[in-house]
Amino acid sequence: MEARFIADSTLGRLAKWLRVMGYDTIYQSFYKTDDITEFVREGRILLSRQQAAITHYPSSLMIRSDHLEAQLHEMKHMGAITPDKSRWFSRCLICNMPLEVADTTVVLQNVPEHVIYQSPPVIQFCPSCNRHFWPGSHRERMKKQLEEWGF
Ligand SMILES: [Zn+2]
Repeated sequence: MEARFIADSTLGRLAKWLRVMGYDTIYQSFYKTDDITEFVREGRILLSRQQAAITHYPSSLMIRSDHLEAQLHEMKHMGAITPDKSRWFSRCLICNMPLEVADTTVVLQNVPEHVIYQSPPVIQFCPSCNRHFWPGSHRERMKKQLEEWGF
């Protein structure tokens, strides 16, 4: 089964990049104790830099580095993630929701016209926040960054 994560409040950047790679990753800048227990109970793996949290939740991963690139490599080496380019950019970076393919006839007000007439016009949207996403320079930069890191 596909791993799902919950990142503790010190791991916001890691959480964002896990979402870029398509991983279901809960992140909040603040958790009440019960929140984490609840997310772990539903089968999520806690990612934390704090030994106390790791000891408390048996299905958790200790992240040792404080550098994003090294953190991602730690997860790869532990077998927690297996890079798969076909899954990159399949999830909303803001809400963690899987993106859906947008109907081009209804996105005109949300997307620049030149994007719609590109081929292939793959425009996706987030059913939660209704943001629209499409292949562009922002996404290219993130893709290049992941490739530079060896993913
Ligand atoms: Zn969203």
